[in-house]
This record gives sequence, C-alpha cells and structure tokens, in this order.
Amino acid sequence: MDGTTDFDPIFEDDRLWSETLVFPHPAKLDDEAMDYYFPEYDGRWSRQTKRAMENFAAKGLEMNSNWALENQFWSCPGCGRSKPEIFRKSANGILLAKLELHHDHLWDEGLRRPEKLLGPEWKGKLMEGATVVMDTIRSLVVRFDEALVCSECNAADGKAKKAVDADPSFSFAAAEIRTFAKAMPHHDHEIDVDAAKAVWDGERPGFERRVAILDMLVDDLAAGRLQRRLEGRLRVDRRMFQRIGAEENLHKAFLRSAKGTVNTGLLQTMRSDFLARSVQKDVVRRERTKTVVRRPTDEEYSSYVPENVARKWAETGEDWTCPCCGRGKRASMRLSSKKKWTGTIRAIAQHDILLDEDEITLRERLFPGFPNDLHLQEMRWVDVCSDCADIETRIGQSRRDLADVYLSIDQMRSSLADVGDNVPHEIDFDLAVEMSGSNWRYRHAGEAVSAFISLRNSFRSRMDFASERKHLRQDTFAQLDFELDVRHRIENAQERKDIMAMFRDGDYSRARKRSQWW
Ligand SMILES: [Zn+2]
Ligand SMILES: [Zn+2]
Ligand SMILES: [Zn+2]
Repeated sequence: MDGTTDFDPIFEDDRLWSETLVFPHPAKLDDEAMDYYFPEYDGRWSRQTKRAMENFAAKGLEMNSNWALENQFWSCPGCGRSKPEIFRKSANGILLAKLELHHDHLWDEGLRRPEKLLGPEWKGKLMEGATVVMDTIRSLVVRFDEALVCSECNAADGKAKKAVDADPSFSFAAAEIRTFAKAMPHHDHEIDVDAAKAVWDGERPGFERRVAILDMLVDDLAAGRLQRRLEGRLRVDRRMFQRIGAEENLHKAFLRSAKGTVNTGLLQTMRSDFLARSVQKDVVRRERTKTVVRRPTDEEYSSYVPENVARKWAETGEDWTCPCCGRGKRASMRLSSKKKWTGTIRAIAQHDILLDEDEITLRERLFPGFPNDLHLQEMRWVDVCSDCADIETRIGQSRRDLADVYLSIDQMRSSLADVGDNVPHEIDFDLAVEMSGSNWRYRHAGEAVSAFISLRNSFRSRMDFASERKHLRQDTFAQLDFELDVRHRIENAQERKDIMAMFRDGDYSRARKRSQWW
C-alpha cells in the first residue's frame, strides 16, 4: 500500500449509503413535465388553467403566486367555491386567478398597541423576551389564524366592514364571510349587508373584550410582570425532536455533495424558478394601437446622441442586441414625455457562480467565517439597454423595504411581462421581488468575493512594491506572513509561503493539493 489508494465512498464503503436525487429545472420543463414534477401545485401550465383560458376566450391571464402555490383541487374556506369556479374574466378580458392570505387585523393592532401605549421605542425599553411575549399576546387575541381565501372573499371582508361600519381592527373570519357573501361561479361576490351586520353585532362584545385584554396584557408586559426569560432557548428550527431528522440530514448531505457547484444555488432558487414558470401577469394593454408608437426615423436614429454614456452607444455596433430583452439599439430608443429621444446602453454588474475548486479551497481556507455555501466569481459587467438596466432601480424604488436588489440576467428576462420596440418595458414587480428575495445568499457571497480580492490585491501590490526595493523585502515578507498567521490563522509557515506564491502568480492549484493535509 502506498497510502494514497483511493476508495470510492459510494460503492465500496459499507459504512455509508447513498441515493441519487433528481431535481427539475422549471424553466426548461414543458407543460406536461410541470404537471409531472409539481402535481400538488398549479400554474399557467396546468390543464385546468389552459381549459379555463379556452372556455373564457381570455385575452390574457393574471395568476398570482398564492394560486400557483396551492393545489389545483382546492376550495375556498369562505365561499366554498373550487378553483375552476373562482376563475373570473375581468372587464379587460383577462382571466383572473388570485388567492389571498386573509388575516385578522387585530394582529396588526397588536403591533401598533405597544407603540401607542409605550411610545415608538418600546422594544428597547422592555426587557429581553418582550417581543416573544408580544407575539404570544397577539396570537391570543386574534379571532382566527391567517387563512388562504379567494380574492373575492378577501375583498368581501373589506367591503362588508365598511358597509356595517365595523371597527377598522375587526375582520370577518372565512366562515363568517360565507354567511353574507353571495357567491356565484365566475363572478365577484355580492354582499348581504344585514347578514354582515348580524355577524358584527354578535361578535362585537367578544372583539371589544379582546382589545381590552390586549391593552391589559401590554400594560402588564410594560410593568415587567409578564417577562419571559430566554436563556438556553432552542432555535425554532433546531428543537430537540427535529435534530438529526430527515430534513436536516437531507439538507446537509446535499450541501456536502453540491458544495462549490451551481447545484447549491439551484436548490435555493427552485421556488422562484417555479414561480417564474407558473405565475403570469398579463397587463391590460393601454390601447397602444390607438396612440401609435413613435419610431425613430433614419435621420433621428443616425443623429441620435444619448445624454448619458454616449460613448458606449457610439462604440456599440449595429448588430448588438440587449442580452435581456433582445432589442437592438434602434428598438430601445424611445420618445420621452418631453418629446425627446432617450435610451442608451448601460453596464450592469453580474455575479457568476465560481466553480474552480482550487480557488474555492483557498478562499474557504482564508475566510472560514463567511457562510461559504455559494462562491461567486469576480463581478463582471454586462451591457444592456437602459430600460433593462432600470429594472433593479425600479424594484428598489417600489419596494424600499428590500435591503438590496439583485437579479441575474435570466431572472431579469423572466420578470419582463411585455417588451415592445420603442416603448418602456412592462415589469412583473411581484415576480421580480420574489426572485430578488431568493437571491439573498448573493449578498454574503458578494462580500466574501470582495474580501478575497482585496486581500489578494493588497498582497500583490505590496509584493510588487518590495520586489523593486531590496531593503523592503524582508520587512514586507514579515508583515504579510504575520497577517496570514494572525488574521487568517494559517499556522504552518510553509503554507503561508505557498499562499503568497499563489497570490503572486494567480495560480491556485496548490491550494487543493495542500488541502489533503489540512
Ligand atoms: Zn371565497
Ligand atoms: Zn383580508
Ligand atoms: Zn434590454
């Protein structure tokens, strides 16, 4: 035996067992395959949806993610209608397929109450554990749990509340909506105001008592009588009975075997890939045929100089097309409201996934503190038309609650609801926000790649500087050596030398050879 004999853990080691997992690429599946892989879900691809589109002779479809994420055989706990009965055609000829999460507004009141009674800084003033107690209080006082209902039932709740002048913090539960919403297949509900009034009158004493309990408990909490200690508390997803359970094992085994590959990211984006393939938001076209789109004349096109990034526009050839929307230069020009031609080519940052095992090994060795579950390459710039470049900006403006917005080119493309020559894009914001949200891992991965690159570059420039100044070499080496030793905890002197050499040459192949000994 030379000590390097490989063993194949999968086939020859009976201490381990294995299973091959197959995951679909929703973006690449045809409708039948979507049916096969996602039988308990729904989408624009389902037979049920396509049949409805035909039966209603609909011009388009507006299907939201709640609809897609619920079984095709579902019926509303309010009106009792099934999905095929809920389909409804809008005045514009669009088939509507929307379900909503309906919640008791007393829950929101529970969020406002401590602020009203104790001031905006209440969380800071109270003792540790106060937010946990607040959540408990809120779940105690609400009349019903969040429920999935059809959009007509959700709307009926709001209309009935107004009609009977109920307290704004009051909401009708699904079963109560049933008593006053006159439901018909394919139509909006009509509301029996008397029946709604009877429910409100009947529930009012209980509702008022709940508000009083809320106030009383918030008061007790503020006085420190309801404190909850949290020492030793287990994370909700790490309770004892869950540990080493099926989900944890599967997830860990998957991450172990997919580490450093695109597959890690694919599992993470499965949900948004599914939604991109399933929901649809056909916009009601503002009759564009009437207001004829102004196209640039040959003269206007050839003399056009964009206000911004004019040079890139001039340098870009006629055969260029935007990798996102597919339009060329001429098609991406458009007339602004001030009757000026606008449109340019802009560069957007894209992060590709890093697959080089050597570099991954080196990065994880140097920066073990990052999650390191996704590795990105250095940022690259991609030229897109200005309408596409604006997608992320517009998401950021419409959703200020989002920490950062990032979409890959493919995701940007699937968020385009409508693309036309010489007109702005119609963007499906809900979908774009959903996709951007599922890219949260890019944030840490982006920080990790910056940390690695700035370390490498600073080593390089200091080594370059010293190489021309003989008297500095010794000190520089000592400094870099110290930095790797102390800041990055590389304890082996030879390894530190190797890392410096790898930084200098940009060749990381030693990293993995080394890793066999780590
Ligand atoms: Zn309903
Ligand atoms: Zn509601
Ligand atoms: Zn474009």
